[in-house]
Amino acid sequence: MPCKRLIFLGPPGSGKGTQATRMSDRFGLVAMSSGDTLRNEIKADSEVGNKAKQYVQAGTLVPDDVITGVMLSAIGKLPPNTGFILDGFPRTVPQAESLAVGLEDANMTIDAAIDFQIGDDLIVERIVSRRVCSNCGATYNVRFFPPHKDGVCDKCGGEVIQRVDDREDVIKTRLETYRLQTAPLIEFYSRRGLLCTVDASPEAEAVAEQVVGKIEALG
Ligand code: AMP
Repeated sequence: MPCKRLIFLGPPGSGKGTQATRMSDRFGLVAMSSGDTLRNEIKADSEVGNKAKQYVQAGTLVPDDVITGVMLSAIGKLPPNTGFILDGFPRTVPQAESLAVGLEDANMTIDAAIDFQIGDDLIVERIVSRRVCSNCGATYNVRFFPPHKDGVCDKCGGEVIQRVDDREDVIKTRLETYRLQTAPLIEFYSRRGLLCTVDASPEAEAVAEQVVGKIEALG
């Protein structure tokens, strides 16, 4: 399959991060999570991390110029003809516009934006039971997919924690932020003929099958 450049859109907790990891393994694409990138910058106490920290903790969006700079620079460092999945970026129309310009300058185009559709009830249920490895970012779920040893990552032995922004009070802000600032991207990519949708409510395996179908249909 020729290299593909994809955007995974969807509310927090829709499982797009899980599917980005799966699809990157399956199709040899680089999964680029804007949230993981920011959390790593915060952990490293970098300049970008310090700019982003207050927003990430509050569940609001980091300023467009900060995240766009970080993500375009990461894309620019990929070897030529590398396919990728953008997970969590863009999240506003101005970010999508800057991405389009940045890619055009580098002679690249997006092949599809895949929207992960799911209702709010399921989102909250999934996020409050979500846990992540503080070292490698692997995700778990205390109810459906706990680590084998409590609090310890199966993959790297790192500490498995709850993200500060996965607590119930912050989730509400994140969902509102999504509706107001990110949902308009569905229309943005639909108008450009790039939108595909998947039903993100079933368990991960069934969602993966749908996503594989959408990617394979791109040719
Ligand atoms: P995520 O891991 O994708 O849920 O992102 C966690 C947090 O990182 C978000 O709540 C935002 O504060 C920040 N963030 C991630 N991606 C973006 C983006 N594209 N634009 C602005 N803020 C972002």
